[in-house]
Amino acid sequence: MIPLVTSFSPQEESQWLQQLTKQIPNQVFKPLAELSDLQRQECELAIVANPDPQALASLPNLVWVQSLWAGVEGMVNQLPDAKFKIVRLIDPHLAETMSEAVLAWTLYLHRDMPHYARQQTHAQWQQRPMVRAKDRRVGILGLGELGNASAQRLAANGFQVFGWSRSEKQLAGVTCFHGRDGLTQLLSQADILVCLLPLTSATLGLLNDDTLSYLPPDAALINFSRGAIIDDIALQKKLQQGEIRHAVLDVFQQEPLPTDNAYWRMKNVTVLPHISAPTHIESACDVVAKNIRLYQATTKIPAAVDVGRGY
Ligand code: NAP
Repeated sequence: MIPLVTSFSPQEESQWLQQLTKQIPNQVFKPLAELSDLQRQECELAIVANPDPQALASLPNLVWVQSLWAGVEGMVNQLPDAKFKIVRLIDPHLAETMSEAVLAWTLYLHRDMPHYARQQTHAQWQQRPMVRAKDRRVGILGLGELGNASAQRLAANGFQVFGWSRSEKQLAGVTCFHGRDGLTQLLSQADILVCLLPLTSATLGLLNDDTLSYLPPDAALINFSRGAIIDDIALQKKLQQGEIRHAVLDVFQQEPLPTDNAYWRMKNVTVLPHISAPTHIESACDVVAKNIRLYQATTKIPAAVDVGRGY
């Protein structure tokens, strides 16, 4: 018996249950609420999505949990002393989807679409200088599953790509930086900055008045990872002063973004409702089913989050 411990509506949870059962027909999956005390004692594995920590505490013998989300900072913060391993969703389909979104919005900024949209509202016919992709420098913060796929896609489309990670890396077609010095080196060359970092104690507020000041004049920003990595007051000031020409924001400190938030009304901001890389139920269940089958055959737990590191 494998319980689902989620914050989904009953209807959403039942779609996941159906898809998981389709993938592993001989395995019983049930919402946690339907498990008896004895069944809860016997659970080694749970499937989770934004779980209530108290609900997980009713499963005392958990060995690992499989998240249905790629970002698990909420669980890591709420369960710092968890005895079980936290396995996040690593889905190649998700990386593909994210790289498509990064390419789409990079092209939007690269080809000055926000500027031409504004010109049209004034019936203004004015051509801006054309910049070739090979002369446009795109900096990606985070070179993990999503950052790496996005970097490769941008490089394949002719952009100059720079990337930043915690550990040193070598990636074909990407100039890689790491560590604090590496951050300022990357920022100072990023005409378009793309944030794909996980939210951890080290990345909270990383893009602030000081770090954003390293960006070249007329730089643009895309944040597709987590809102709290950006200091909103600092970014709004730089957008208002024209130091940053445009920001595409898909993630916010509070979601849904409150209607009175200034971002909604800023002409040089594109607000997206957290849609850059949604989990796809079929492909996610495919990955989850493979992980479960492997564990059941070998007791091997898939690579888990390093709780100390925060991702
Ligand atoms: P990942 O595979 O864990 O990669 C994280 C990357 O960030 C790694 O390259 C890591 O460096 C780097 N990093 C972490 N902390 C750092 C630090 N302090 N300094 C420098 N680099 C640091 O994560 P992922 O799967 O690519 O996902 C990234 C984030 O995207 C998730 O955490 C989630 O918040 C977000 N996300 C958003 C959506 C959406 O729809 N908007 C969808 C899915 C995920 P190392 O390589 O050296 O470890």
